[in-house]
Amino acid sequence: MGVGIVNSTEIAEFAVALQEIRDDVTNAELIDTISALEDMKSAACAAQAVISAQFESAVREERRQRGTPADRWSKGISAQIALARKESPHRGGHLLGQARILTEDMPHTLNLLRTGHLNEWRTSLIIKEIICLDRDDRRHIDEQLCADPETLRGLGDTAVRGKAYTLAVERDCAAIVERARKAPNQRCVTSRPAPDSMAYLTALLPMKDAVAVHATLSRDADTIICTEDVVERSKNQIMADLLLERCTGVSAASASPVEVVIVISDESLLAGGTAPAHVKGYGPIPAAIARDIIAHSVTSEAVTTLRKLYSTPVTGAITAMESTARAFPKSLARLIDLRDRWCRTPYCNAPIRHHDHITPHHAGGPTSAHNGAGLCEACNYTKETPGWSSRSDNPPGTLHSFELITPTGHRYRSTADRTPTPLHLNREAS
Ligand SMILES: [Zn+2]
Repeated sequence: MGVGIVNSTEIAEFAVALQEIRDDVTNAELIDTISALEDMKSAACAAQAVISAQFESAVREERRQRGTPADRWSKGISAQIALARKESPHRGGHLLGQARILTEDMPHTLNLLRTGHLNEWRTSLIIKEIICLDRDDRRHIDEQLCADPETLRGLGDTAVRGKAYTLAVERDCAAIVERARKAPNQRCVTSRPAPDSMAYLTALLPMKDAVAVHATLSRDADTIICTEDVVERSKNQIMADLLLERCTGVSAASASPVEVVIVISDESLLAGGTAPAHVKGYGPIPAAIARDIIAHSVTSEAVTTLRKLYSTPVTGAITAMESTARAFPKSLARLIDLRDRWCRTPYCNAPIRHHDHITPHHAGGPTSAHNGAGLCEACNYTKETPGWSSRSDNPPGTLHSFELITPTGHRYRSTADRTPTPLHLNREAS
């Protein structure tokens, strides 16, 4: 694949050359080099956008010539770009959409990215503000904002976004208002890990609702502070406790009535071991915190269930399990969920929604933990499109691993994480 006069091998050689940083240069030259490298990163992002759009056009054209129905011409293209860029499939879709807009409608913005006047992040901020406009309006704003590099010189993220937004409102206020009216459809609640066994619960709400929720929690926390004789909690802590109580129906001091799945080694659970435990949907937590959570749920009214998972002591691989059915039975599906934790497509962080046969059932693939992989909905859908396949190539008893093969013949390895294993066995294995 050529990029101007440079091909992928030459780019890789240049990247290797960057590992050797000279130490016989002045401080001014060091700063110049940092700056030149930054420009090069932007230029690389511009080249990736152009190449991604070119790849999409080429694949769509091949499919058109082959007589593929038009609604399937784009299937799986962004997923291949995501794997090549080591990004999640979701982000791959955004990047391809951005590449298309840049190459088709925004030549000046693309040029500023190529020359290092914009980086990929700021380019994405501009595109987000004008994506709801029609092609003529995008081209007009592209020219107004980016034809002259001086317009954006020295501007940070907020200023760049503000300029793009102002131009968008001036050009087509109705489209911006329409987008704002549709925005409440995006409302959602998500959670993501925070350091120290904490997690962020984020709600994206219409502004007036978010303000109302926050104001209600704040007002009620103030009431508690005023009426309680001894207040040991801060206002922030009381607000967080009230949120939990009102969502789960139980007080913060009781156990949550919803299942929390913790995978922990027997040594960490029973003998004070320090190997971290894994919480499904969250990630690793210290063994002591896991023991606290389990001990607390045992002493409260919560139902605590202990299930044994057998794993190979040295590799930490979960022991195989097999079924004669075509669909994965519940216990086998649960075993795959605990082993895989997230969608098994490399770089995908989405929760598991499907249990896929690595070697398809119709090709003789058994319904087993070894031949099964947890995938999210989008990745399962992509894998079903022509040209994609996967191949299991590791013997049972080792960490579960398979190769994902894309239509261009590129291979990406997906390896499951170790199950929580007593630390002394980890040390013996390494
Ligand atoms: Zn996925």
